[in-house]
Amino acid sequence: MPQTPLLFTPGPLMTSERVKTAMLRDWGPRDPDFAALEASIRARLVDLAGGTGSHVAVPMSGSGNLAVEAMVGSFVPREGKLLILINGVYGRRAIAMCDYAGRAYATFEMPFDTAPDPIEIDTRLAADPGISHVLLVDCETTTGILNPLHAIAGVVAARGRGLLVDSMCGFGALPIDVRTSPVDALAASPTKCLESVPGLCFVIVRESALRKCQGNAPAVNLDLYDQWRSLEQDGCWRFTAPTHVVAALGAALDELEVEGGIAGRMRRYARTSRSIIDGFRAMGFETVLDSERQAPMIVSFRAPCARRFDLDRFHAGLLREGVLISPGKLDDVPSFRVACMGQVGEAEVRYLLAAVQQTITAMGIERCAKR
Ligand SMILES: *Cc1c(COP(=O)(O)O)cnc(C)c1O
Repeated sequence: MPQTPLLFTPGPLMTSERVKTAMLRDWGPRDPDFAALEASIRARLVDLAGGTGSHVAVPMSGSGNLAVEAMVGSFVPREGKLLILINGVYGRRAIAMCDYAGRAYATFEMPFDTAPDPIEIDTRLAADPGISHVLLVDCETTTGILNPLHAIAGVVAARGRGLLVDSMCGFGALPIDVRTSPVDALAASPTKCLESVPGLCFVIVRESALRKCQGNAPAVNLDLYDQWRSLEQDGCWRFTAPTHVVAALGAALDELEVEGGIAGRMRRYARTSRSIIDGFRAMGFETVLDSERQAPMIVSFRAPCARRFDLDRFHAGLLREGVLISPGKLDDVPSFRVACMGQVGEAEVRYLLAAVQQTITAMGIERCAKR
C-alpha cells in the first residue's frame, strides 16, 4: 500500500524527487539568478516547440485554463472572431471564455470520438471571412483523442487566419514543430506531460503576432502582451512570480532532456498506456476510443454494464487501495479515465491493475462481460 495515493490523473500528477527538491530554495524578487533561470526555461520551452527565432514563451501564474483564456483574450481582437473546434469539454470551455471576454465565435462541434476534418474547416473559413482565429485542442483530455494539428495548421495558414492551440495534454510528449505546423499561439502547462507541479502555465507565441496584441486583453491579469513586455525589459514578471514552481519546471525540463526529449517521453507513455489498456481489457473493460485515435497520455474506459458495477464505488474502492484515477467527462457514456502521464512506471501500473481487480472482485464481479 503506497503511503499517499498513486496518481493516474491528468494533473496534478506524480512528480520526481528532483522536481520536488528544486522547490527547497527561496528566491527573492529581482534575484539575477532567478531571472537567468527564467530566461533559460523560456528558451527551452520555445525550443521544444521548434520555435526558436520566431516564437517566445510567456509564462503566467495560474492553472492551465488561465493560459487558454489569456491566449484567446490577447490574440482574438475585439472585432475578431474565433472558430472553436469542439470534440470534448475542454474545447467547449472556450465558449464561456469568449462570452466573458465579449469575443464573437462560431463553433464546429463533432462527436467525442470524431476528429475535426481539415477539409470541413477549410470550407467554414472560406464561407466566413470574419473568422480571424481558430482554436484547436490537440489532444482532447475528455477521451484522449488525437486531433490532426498538422493538417489543420496547414489549412488555417493557407486561409491567412491565426491558429491557437490548447496543447495542455500534448505538450512535452506529442511531437510539435511550429516551423512546419504554423501556430500563432500554443497554451500549455507544466502539470501534464512535463511532469512538474501546478501553479504556472505558459503560452508559446509567434513574436510578430504578439506584437499586434497590445491592448486586446479583456483583463489586466490575462494580458500576454504586457507580461511579455515586462519579461523582455528586465527579466521580471509583472506581478509576484511563482518562484518555487518556476524552479521545479527547470528541474522537470532537465529530466525531460535526460529521458530523450519529447520522443523519449512519448515512448514511455506509449509503453505505459499499452500496459494499462491490455491490463484493463484482460479484466473485460473497453476503451471509449478505437486504438488508432487514442493518444497515450490519457485513456477513457467505459463503465462496464455489469449490474453490480457502480462508478462511485469503483473510485472509492480504488482510493482505499491507494490509487487515484480520474472521473469520466462524457455526457452520455458512463466512463472513467486513467492518465499515463507522470512518474508512474511498470511497478505502479502493476499495482493499479491489481487494485482494479481487487475492487471489482469486492463488488462481486468475476470479469466485466463484453456488451
Ligand atoms: C488540463 C487541461 C486544461 C487546463 O486545466 P487546468 O485545470 O486549468 O490546469 C486545459 N485544456 C486541456 C485540454 C487540458 O487537458
